[in-house]
Amino acid sequence: MIDMRSDTLTKPSEEMREVMRTAIVGDDCYGEDESVNNLEDYCKELFEVEGALFVPSGTMANQIAIKAQVEEGNEIITEANYHINFYESASTAILSRAVLNCVRKKDGIINKGDVEELINSKPRGPLYSKPQLVTIENTINYYQGKTFPIETIKSLYNYTREIGISLHMDGARLFNAHIATGVPLKEYARNVDSLSVCFAKGLGAPYGSMLMGSEDFIQSARALRKQFGGGLHQIGMYAAAAQYALDYHLIKIKKDHQLTKEMAVLLNEIPEISINVESIETNMIFININSLTNNTNEFLRLCEEYGLLLFPWLPGLVRIVINRHISREDIYKASEIIKTVVKKLSRSVVYV
Ligand SMILES: *Cc1c(COP(=O)(O)O)cnc(C)c1O
Repeated sequence: MIDMRSDTLTKPSEEMREVMRTAIVGDDCYGEDESVNNLEDYCKELFEVEGALFVPSGTMANQIAIKAQVEEGNEIITEANYHINFYESASTAILSRAVLNCVRKKDGIINKGDVEELINSKPRGPLYSKPQLVTIENTINYYQGKTFPIETIKSLYNYTREIGISLHMDGARLFNAHIATGVPLKEYARNVDSLSVCFAKGLGAPYGSMLMGSEDFIQSARALRKQFGGGLHQIGMYAAAAQYALDYHLIKIKKDHQLTKEMAVLLNEIPEISINVESIETNMIFININSLTNNTNEFLRLCEEYGLLLFPWLPGLVRIVINRHISREDIYKASEIIKTVVKKLSRSVVYV
């Protein structure tokens, strides 16, 4: 079975498992897990930030960043399709009792003008909800792993600082953005107040995210991590796996991006499918199957029958993600499978 549903599906290699087996551990709630401390220190240098906190998941990193920077009843400005709204609106409501004020952008990029518009679209003042945080996503999952332009981040950051609100970057796939654009990680970190990165996506570690920002921010984040139940004890083996992933897997993300582009070219040879190859920047392809069938599940079931797993993003929209286990041979096989399924479905179309 070729599994292209996600980049979270990767499994630790034998070498990574060995690193985990021999990792030094201690109680991280006492600040005594050497492997965790080393990883946090390493990230502080890599991103040139004052503070770094190892947390269990990308969702917890985002939720801590929100809780630390937004008071109850106040507002987070973001894009409707970013993970923080698309998947985490319930978490935000429950954990922070904060309001998500969202814009819906055709290109997925929220800019200074959008933020200004959302701020001015409601009465403000001491009686009303106050915007306290803007969040961006990089790469942007919903927009096919698109990278968020650094120039837009800079202008957003100038603006948010000017009006005294914070800017958070959900960088679950920031390593993909970094590899695709060549923009240094510290350049991204320098232009936001807080950011999170995931080790369990394209990097291929089994667990964990790093939340980063100023020393004060990380101090509150550490208390919030405990409150959210994310204060773990002998967690060093996971930190060691993340360190291994940074050392040996980060550079290999390049191959995922190359294969993704190659696969887009192969899929484009199918007459019923049209992909803008230029729009493929990292490790994802979204295919719109609305013209083939109104039954996304049937499309996916047939793919599975032929040996390919894909992710149902929304009805009519299927996501392909290339991860480190996918080979060139796999993308040829997968493209053939999709071709066969498309043929089968388009033959079953009844014209009336
Ligand atoms: C995966 C992802 C997250 C959350 O990751 P989990 O570790 O699964 O909680 C957050 N933001 C984005 C953009 C993601 O893709």
